[in-house]
Amino acid sequence: MKPIQLVDLTTQHVKIKSEIDAAIYEVILSSSFIKGEQVNWFEQELGQYLQVKHVIGCGNGTDALMLALMALELKPGDEVIVPTFTFIATAEVVAFLNLVPVFVDVDPDYYTINVQQVEKSITNRTKAIIPVHLFGQCAPMAEILEIANKYNLYVIEDAAQSLGAEYLINDKKIKAGTIGHIGCTSFFPSKNLGCMGDGGAIFTNNDDLAQKIRMLANHGAEKKYFHRYIGINSRLDTLQAAILRVKLKYLDNYIQSRKWAAQRYIELLAGIHEIVLPQQANYSSHTFNQFTIRLQNEENRNALQQYLQQNNIPTAIYYPLPLHQQPAFQSILSTKPSLPVSEQLSQQVISLPMHTELEDEQIQFISTVIIDCLKKITINKKK
Ligand SMILES: *Cc1c(COP(=O)(O)O)cnc(C)c1O
Repeated sequence: MKPIQLVDLTTQHVKIKSEIDAAIYEVILSSSFIKGEQVNWFEQELGQYLQVKHVIGCGNGTDALMLALMALELKPGDEVIVPTFTFIATAEVVAFLNLVPVFVDVDPDYYTINVQQVEKSITNRTKAIIPVHLFGQCAPMAEILEIANKYNLYVIEDAAQSLGAEYLINDKKIKAGTIGHIGCTSFFPSKNLGCMGDGGAIFTNNDDLAQKIRMLANHGAEKKYFHRYIGINSRLDTLQAAILRVKLKYLDNYIQSRKWAAQRYIELLAGIHEIVLPQQANYSSHTFNQFTIRLQNEENRNALQQYLQQNNIPTAIYYPLPLHQQPAFQSILSTKPSLPVSEQLSQQVISLPMHTELEDEQIQFISTVIIDCLKKITINKKK
Protein backbone atom coordinates (compact mmCIF):
# COMPACT_ATOMS: atom_id res chain seq x y z
CA MET A 1 0.00 0.00 0.00
CA LYS A 2 1.22 3.51 -0.80
CA PRO A 3 1.93 5.72 2.23
CA ILE A 4 -1.20 7.66 3.18
CA GLN A 5 -1.12 11.44 2.83
CA LEU A 6 -3.68 13.97 3.97
CA VAL A 7 -3.57 15.39 0.44
CA ASP A 8 -1.64 13.71 -2.39
CA LEU A 9 -0.87 16.27 -5.08
CA THR A 10 2.17 14.47 -6.46
CA THR A 11 0.29 11.45 -7.76
CA GLN A 12 -2.36 13.74 -9.23
CA HIS A 13 0.31 15.81 -10.94
CA VAL A 14 2.25 12.91 -12.46
CA LYS A 15 -0.88 11.93 -14.45
CA ILE A 16 -1.02 15.30 -16.24
CA LYS A 17 2.66 16.18 -16.12
CA SER A 18 3.22 16.45 -19.87
CA GLU A 19 0.27 18.81 -20.33
CA ILE A 20 1.37 20.96 -17.39
CA ASP A 21 4.98 21.05 -18.59
CA ALA A 22 3.87 22.21 -22.03
CA ALA A 23 1.61 24.89 -20.56
CA ILE A 24 4.34 26.23 -18.27
CA TYR A 25 6.93 26.23 -21.02
CA GLU A 26 4.63 28.17 -23.34
CA VAL A 27 4.26 30.92 -20.75
CA ILE A 28 7.99 31.04 -20.13
CA LEU A 29 8.65 31.40 -23.86
CA SER A 30 6.06 34.18 -24.13
CA SER A 31 7.61 36.02 -21.11
CA SER A 32 4.14 37.40 -20.50
CA PHE A 33 4.13 36.66 -16.79
CA ILE A 34 1.70 39.34 -15.60
CA LYS A 35 -1.74 39.67 -17.23
CA GLY A 36 -0.81 37.32 -20.06
CA GLU A 37 -3.49 36.03 -22.43
CA GLN A 38 -3.71 32.73 -20.48
CA VAL A 39 -5.36 34.67 -17.66
CA ASN A 40 -8.10 35.88 -20.00
CA TRP A 41 -8.63 32.44 -21.45
CA PHE A 42 -8.79 30.85 -18.03
CA GLU A 43 -11.31 33.44 -16.82
CA GLN A 44 -13.48 32.74 -19.83
CA GLU A 45 -13.26 28.96 -19.51
CA LEU A 46 -14.05 29.05 -15.79
CA GLY A 47 -16.97 31.42 -16.51
CA GLN A 48 -18.28 28.89 -19.03
CA TYR A 49 -17.93 26.05 -16.54
CA LEU A 50 -19.69 28.00 -13.79
CA GLN A 51 -22.22 29.65 -16.10
CA VAL A 52 -21.40 33.06 -14.67
CA LYS A 53 -20.90 36.25 -16.64
CA HIS A 54 -17.68 37.54 -15.06
CA VAL A 55 -14.66 35.76 -13.61
CA ILE A 56 -11.83 37.94 -12.30
CA GLY A 57 -8.60 36.19 -11.35
CA CYS A 58 -6.67 37.50 -8.35
CA GLY A 59 -3.75 36.66 -6.08
CA ASN A 60 -5.47 34.32 -3.61
CA GLY A 61 -8.81 33.50 -2.00
CA THR A 62 -8.32 35.97 0.84
CA ASP A 63 -7.80 38.82 -1.63
CA ALA A 64 -10.88 37.65 -3.53
CA LEU A 65 -12.96 38.17 -0.38
CA MET A 66 -11.30 41.50 0.33
CA LEU A 67 -11.84 42.78 -3.22
CA ALA A 68 -15.49 41.74 -3.06
CA LEU A 69 -15.98 43.79 0.12
CA MET A 70 -13.98 46.74 -1.25
CA ALA A 71 -16.28 46.90 -4.27
CA LEU A 72 -19.32 47.46 -2.04
CA GLU A 73 -18.07 50.80 -0.67
CA LEU A 74 -19.06 50.13 2.91
CA LYS A 75 -18.40 52.61 5.72
CA PRO A 76 -16.17 51.92 8.74
CA GLY A 77 -18.32 50.30 11.41
CA ASP A 78 -20.72 48.69 8.93
CA GLU A 79 -21.50 45.13 9.94
CA VAL A 80 -20.92 41.95 7.98
CA ILE A 81 -22.40 38.68 9.21
CA VAL A 82 -20.04 35.71 9.05
CA PRO A 83 -20.09 32.17 10.45
CA THR A 84 -17.66 31.61 13.31
CA PHE A 85 -16.80 28.06 12.19
CA THR A 86 -14.62 28.74 9.14
CA PHE A 87 -11.09 29.62 8.08
CA ILE A 88 -9.97 33.00 9.39
CA ALA A 89 -9.83 34.63 5.94
CA THR A 90 -13.64 34.90 5.82
CA ALA A 91 -13.72 37.33 8.75
CA GLU A 92 -10.16 38.65 8.68
CA VAL A 93 -10.79 40.75 5.57
CA VAL A 94 -13.90 42.25 7.17
CA ALA A 95 -11.91 43.46 10.17
CA PHE A 96 -8.98 44.50 7.99
CA LEU A 97 -11.27 46.93 6.12
CA ASN A 98 -12.46 48.45 9.43
CA LEU A 99 -15.82 46.77 9.09
CA VAL A 100 -17.31 44.77 11.95
CA PRO A 101 -17.55 41.00 11.66
CA VAL A 102 -20.68 39.77 13.42
CA PHE A 103 -20.16 36.11 14.23
CA VAL A 104 -23.03 33.65 14.13
CA ASP A 105 -23.20 29.94 14.86
CA VAL A 106 -23.50 27.11 12.35
CA ASP A 107 -26.04 24.40 11.69
CA PRO A 108 -25.37 21.29 13.83
CA ASP A 109 -25.89 18.90 10.88
CA TYR A 110 -24.21 20.63 7.94
CA TYR A 111 -21.81 23.02 9.74
CA THR A 112 -22.80 25.90 7.44
CA ILE A 113 -24.18 29.25 8.63
CA ASN A 114 -27.29 29.13 10.83
CA VAL A 115 -29.93 31.13 8.96
CA GLN A 116 -32.16 31.87 11.98
CA GLN A 117 -29.17 33.43 13.73
CA VAL A 118 -28.34 35.48 10.66
CA GLU A 119 -31.76 37.10 10.76
CA LYS A 120 -31.55 37.70 14.53
CA SER A 121 -28.15 39.41 14.14
CA ILE A 122 -29.30 42.01 11.63
CA THR A 123 -29.11 45.64 12.77
CA ASN A 124 -29.40 48.93 10.88
CA ARG A 125 -25.63 48.77 10.32
CA THR A 126 -25.71 45.33 8.66
CA LYS A 127 -24.66 45.53 5.03
CA ALA A 128 -23.61 42.06 3.95
CA ILE A 129 -23.61 38.34 4.73
CA ILE A 130 -20.74 36.00 3.85
CA PRO A 131 -22.02 32.42 3.82
CA VAL A 132 -19.24 29.83 3.59
CA HIS A 133 -19.75 26.67 1.55
CA LEU A 134 -17.86 24.66 4.13
CA PHE A 135 -15.97 21.41 3.46
CA GLY A 136 -17.37 21.20 -0.10
CA GLN A 137 -21.09 21.68 0.48
CA CYS A 138 -23.23 24.79 -0.13
CA ALA A 139 -24.78 26.87 2.64
CA PRO A 140 -28.61 27.18 2.47
CA MET A 141 -28.55 29.93 -0.14
CA ALA A 142 -32.29 30.16 -0.86
CA GLU A 143 -33.02 31.15 2.72
CA ILE A 144 -30.00 33.45 2.86
CA LEU A 145 -31.05 35.25 -0.33
CA GLU A 146 -34.56 35.63 1.05
CA ILE A 147 -33.24 37.35 4.17
CA ALA A 148 -30.82 39.45 2.11
CA ASN A 149 -33.68 40.65 -0.11
CA LYS A 150 -35.87 41.44 2.87
CA TYR A 151 -33.17 43.60 4.54
CA ASN A 152 -31.42 44.82 1.39
CA LEU A 153 -28.07 43.15 2.10
CA TYR A 154 -25.28 41.96 -0.15
CA VAL A 155 -24.40 38.28 -0.23
CA ILE A 156 -20.77 37.34 -0.83
CA GLU A 157 -20.24 33.59 -1.11
CA ASP A 158 -17.04 32.09 0.21
CA ALA A 159 -16.70 29.16 -2.20
CA ALA A 160 -13.02 28.49 -1.48
CA GLN A 161 -13.74 24.89 -0.43
CA SER A 162 -16.51 24.08 -2.84
CA LEU A 163 -15.71 25.05 -6.41
CA GLY A 164 -17.88 22.85 -8.63
CA ALA A 165 -20.53 22.15 -5.97
CA GLU A 166 -24.09 22.50 -7.24
CA TYR A 167 -26.95 24.18 -5.42
CA LEU A 168 -30.49 23.09 -6.22
CA ILE A 169 -32.94 25.97 -6.49
CA ASN A 170 -36.36 25.82 -8.24
CA ASP A 171 -35.36 22.47 -9.80
CA LYS A 172 -32.30 24.13 -11.34
CA LYS A 173 -28.69 23.41 -10.46
CA ILE A 174 -26.47 26.46 -9.98
CA LYS A 175 -22.77 26.36 -9.24
CA ALA A 176 -21.44 27.48 -5.85
CA GLY A 177 -20.13 31.03 -6.01
CA THR A 178 -22.62 32.19 -8.65
CA ILE A 179 -25.73 32.34 -6.46
CA GLY A 180 -25.23 35.54 -4.45
CA HIS A 181 -24.10 38.98 -5.63
CA ILE A 182 -20.41 38.06 -5.60
CA GLY A 183 -18.65 34.71 -5.24
CA CYS A 184 -15.06 34.12 -4.17
CA THR A 185 -12.81 31.13 -4.50
CA SER A 186 -9.24 30.02 -3.86
CA PHE A 187 -6.86 27.98 -5.99
CA PHE A 188 -4.64 27.11 -3.01
CA PRO A 189 -3.06 23.78 -4.01
CA SER A 190 -5.29 21.58 -1.82
CA LYS A 191 -8.61 23.11 -2.92
CA ASN A 192 -10.90 21.37 -5.43
CA LEU A 193 -9.16 23.23 -8.26
CA GLY A 194 -5.64 23.94 -7.05
CA CYS A 195 -2.80 25.75 -8.76
CA MET A 196 0.91 25.52 -7.94
CA GLY A 197 1.13 28.42 -5.55
CA ASP A 198 -1.39 31.06 -4.54
CA GLY A 199 -4.36 32.01 -6.71
CA GLY A 200 -7.97 33.07 -6.41
CA ALA A 201 -10.96 34.39 -8.32
CA ILE A 202 -14.10 36.45 -7.97
CA PHE A 203 -17.38 35.72 -9.77
CA THR A 204 -20.36 37.96 -10.47
CA ASN A 205 -23.17 38.46 -12.95
CA ASN A 206 -23.21 42.20 -12.22
CA ASP A 207 -21.36 44.22 -14.91
CA ASP A 208 -20.69 47.26 -12.70
CA LEU A 209 -19.32 45.22 -9.82
CA ALA A 210 -17.17 43.19 -12.23
CA GLN A 211 -15.65 46.27 -13.80
CA LYS A 212 -14.93 47.78 -10.42
CA ILE A 213 -13.43 44.62 -8.94
CA ARG A 214 -11.18 44.25 -11.97
CA MET A 215 -9.88 47.77 -11.42
CA LEU A 216 -9.50 47.34 -7.65
CA ALA A 217 -7.37 44.22 -8.18
CA ASN A 218 -5.06 46.19 -10.44
CA HIS A 219 -4.23 49.33 -8.42
CA GLY A 220 -7.66 50.82 -9.10
CA ALA A 221 -6.48 51.56 -12.62
CA GLU A 222 -8.90 52.31 -15.44
CA LYS A 223 -6.00 52.09 -17.83
CA LYS A 224 -2.29 51.98 -17.20
CA TYR A 225 -1.15 54.83 -14.87
CA PHE A 226 -4.67 56.33 -14.53
CA HIS A 227 -6.17 55.36 -11.21
CA ARG A 228 -9.86 55.72 -10.40
CA TYR A 229 -9.79 53.97 -7.01
CA ILE A 230 -7.36 53.13 -4.24
CA GLY A 231 -6.88 49.49 -5.09
CA ILE A 232 -4.40 46.72 -4.44
CA ASN A 233 -2.03 44.59 -6.48
CA SER A 234 -3.69 41.19 -6.62
CA ARG A 235 -3.51 39.42 -9.95
CA LEU A 236 -3.57 35.78 -10.97
CA ASP A 237 -0.11 34.96 -12.40
CA THR A 238 -0.06 33.90 -16.04
CA LEU A 239 1.80 30.72 -15.04
CA GLN A 240 -0.91 29.81 -12.55
CA ALA A 241 -3.62 30.56 -15.10
CA ALA A 242 -1.93 28.27 -17.64
CA ILE A 243 -1.73 25.48 -15.03
CA LEU A 244 -5.36 26.05 -14.02
CA ARG A 245 -6.52 25.83 -17.65
CA VAL A 246 -5.11 22.30 -17.80
CA LYS A 247 -6.56 21.30 -14.45
CA LEU A 248 -10.02 22.82 -15.05
CA LYS A 249 -10.60 20.14 -17.70
CA TYR A 250 -10.23 17.54 -14.95
CA LEU A 251 -12.20 19.32 -12.23
CA ASP A 252 -15.34 17.20 -12.65
CA ASN A 253 -13.23 14.02 -12.58
CA TYR A 254 -11.46 15.24 -9.47
CA ILE A 255 -14.81 15.91 -7.79
CA GLN A 256 -16.00 12.43 -8.80
CA SER A 257 -12.91 10.89 -7.19
CA ARG A 258 -13.55 12.80 -3.97
CA LYS A 259 -17.19 11.71 -3.96
CA TRP A 260 -16.18 8.11 -4.53
CA ALA A 261 -13.68 8.22 -1.66
CA ALA A 262 -16.30 9.82 0.61
CA GLN A 263 -18.80 7.13 -0.32
CA ARG A 264 -16.29 4.39 0.57
CA TYR A 265 -15.62 6.00 3.96
CA ILE A 266 -19.36 6.27 4.56
CA GLU A 267 -19.92 2.58 3.68
CA LEU A 268 -17.03 1.39 5.82
CA LEU A 269 -17.81 3.57 8.84
CA ALA A 270 -21.61 3.25 8.72
CA GLY A 271 -23.35 2.17 11.88
CA ILE A 272 -20.53 3.06 14.24
CA HIS A 273 -22.38 4.98 16.90
CA GLU A 274 -19.30 6.83 18.22
CA ILE A 275 -18.94 8.63 14.87
CA VAL A 276 -21.12 11.22 13.18
CA LEU A 277 -20.46 11.01 9.44
CA PRO A 278 -20.79 14.06 7.15
CA GLN A 279 -24.47 14.83 6.52
CA GLN A 280 -25.56 15.81 3.03
CA ALA A 281 -28.17 18.52 2.57
CA ASN A 282 -30.87 17.88 -0.05
CA TYR A 283 -30.26 21.30 -1.63
CA SER A 284 -26.57 20.86 -2.44
CA SER A 285 -24.13 18.39 -3.90
CA HIS A 286 -21.08 17.70 -1.74
CA THR A 287 -17.65 18.00 -3.35
CA PHE A 288 -15.83 16.72 -0.22
CA ASN A 289 -12.93 19.13 -0.16
CA GLN A 290 -12.75 17.73 3.38
CA PHE A 291 -14.10 14.51 4.85
CA THR A 292 -14.84 15.60 8.39
CA ILE A 293 -16.23 13.28 11.03
CA ARG A 294 -17.27 14.10 14.55
CA LEU A 295 -16.75 12.24 17.84
CA GLN A 296 -18.59 12.53 21.16
CA ASN A 297 -15.98 14.63 22.91
CA GLU A 298 -12.55 16.22 22.70
CA GLU A 299 -10.85 13.43 24.63
CA ASN A 300 -11.95 10.75 22.16
CA ARG A 301 -11.22 13.00 19.19
CA ASN A 302 -7.68 13.63 20.38
CA ALA A 303 -7.17 9.95 21.22
CA LEU A 304 -8.30 9.01 17.72
CA GLN A 305 -5.99 11.55 16.12
CA GLN A 306 -3.05 10.23 18.11
CA TYR A 307 -3.89 6.60 17.32
CA LEU A 308 -4.15 7.35 13.61
CA GLN A 309 -0.83 9.19 13.74
CA GLN A 310 0.80 6.13 15.33
CA ASN A 311 -0.47 4.16 12.34
CA ASN A 312 0.96 6.71 9.90
CA ILE A 313 -2.42 8.15 9.02
CA PRO A 314 -2.29 11.95 9.00
CA THR A 315 -5.41 13.91 9.94
CA ALA A 316 -6.25 17.57 10.52
CA ILE A 317 -8.55 19.58 12.75
CA TYR A 318 -10.59 22.11 10.78
CA TYR A 319 -11.03 24.17 12.94
CA PRO A 320 -9.67 23.88 16.49
CA LEU A 321 -10.81 27.35 17.65
CA PRO A 322 -13.91 29.17 16.36
CA LEU A 323 -13.24 32.68 15.10
CA HIS A 324 -15.14 34.51 17.88
CA GLN A 325 -12.66 32.95 20.34
CA GLN A 326 -9.52 33.85 18.38
CA PRO A 327 -7.25 36.36 20.14
CA ALA A 328 -7.09 38.41 16.94
CA PHE A 329 -10.77 39.38 17.21
CA GLN A 330 -11.03 40.02 20.95
CA SER A 331 -10.30 43.72 20.79
CA ILE A 332 -13.05 44.38 18.23
CA LEU A 333 -15.79 42.25 19.78
CA SER A 334 -18.11 44.43 21.86
CA THR A 335 -19.68 41.43 23.58
CA LYS A 336 -18.42 37.89 24.06
CA PRO A 337 -20.84 35.83 22.03
CA SER A 338 -21.67 32.29 23.03
CA LEU A 339 -21.90 30.14 19.92
CA PRO A 340 -22.19 26.64 21.37
CA VAL A 341 -22.48 24.53 18.22
CA SER A 342 -19.22 25.86 16.81
CA GLU A 343 -17.50 25.70 20.20
CA GLN A 344 -18.48 22.05 20.47
CA LEU A 345 -17.58 21.24 16.86
CA SER A 346 -14.08 22.60 17.30
CA GLN A 347 -13.56 20.02 20.06
CA GLN A 348 -15.19 17.11 18.24
CA VAL A 349 -14.29 17.27 14.55
CA ILE A 350 -11.45 15.54 12.77
CA SER A 351 -10.80 15.51 9.03
CA LEU A 352 -9.56 12.28 7.44
CA PRO A 353 -7.23 11.99 4.44
CA MET A 354 -9.19 13.24 1.42
CA HIS A 355 -7.90 13.85 -2.08
CA THR A 356 -8.37 12.72 -5.66
CA GLU A 357 -5.87 9.86 -5.53
CA LEU A 358 -7.06 7.79 -2.54
CA GLU A 359 -7.11 4.05 -3.18
CA ASP A 360 -9.67 1.59 -1.89
CA GLU A 361 -6.99 -0.27 0.05
CA GLN A 362 -6.00 2.95 1.81
CA ILE A 363 -9.57 3.87 2.73
CA GLN A 364 -10.14 0.34 4.04
CA PHE A 365 -7.00 0.56 6.15
CA ILE A 366 -7.93 3.97 7.56
CA SER A 367 -11.44 2.78 8.40
CA THR A 368 -10.15 -0.38 10.08
CA VAL A 369 -7.71 1.59 12.20
CA ILE A 370 -10.51 3.99 13.23
CA ILE A 371 -12.76 1.10 14.24
CA ASP A 372 -9.92 -0.55 16.20
CA CYS A 373 -9.22 2.66 18.03
CA LEU A 374 -12.84 3.23 18.99
CA LYS A 375 -13.08 -0.32 20.36
CA LYS A 376 -10.09 0.36 22.58
CA ILE A 377 -11.54 3.64 23.79
CA THR A 378 -14.82 1.90 24.67
CA ILE A 379 -13.03 -0.97 26.46
CA ASN A 380 -10.99 1.54 28.50
CA LYS A 381 -14.19 3.31 29.52
CA LYS A 382 -15.75 0.06 30.74
CA LYS A 383 -12.71 -0.87 32.88
C1 LIG B 1 -8.72 28.53 1.68
C2 LIG B 1 -9.82 29.39 2.17
C3 LIG B 1 -9.80 30.79 2.01
C4 LIG B 1 -8.61 31.59 1.56
O1 LIG B 1 -7.94 31.18 0.47
P1 LIG B 1 -6.39 31.57 0.24
O2 LIG B 1 -6.23 31.35 -1.23
O3 LIG B 1 -5.58 30.64 1.07
O4 LIG B 1 -6.20 33.00 0.62
C5 LIG B 1 -10.93 31.50 2.39
N1 LIG B 1 -11.99 30.90 2.94
C6 LIG B 1 -12.03 29.57 3.15
C7 LIG B 1 -13.26 28.98 3.75
C8 LIG B 1 -10.94 28.77 2.79
O5 LIG B 1 -10.99 27.45 3.02
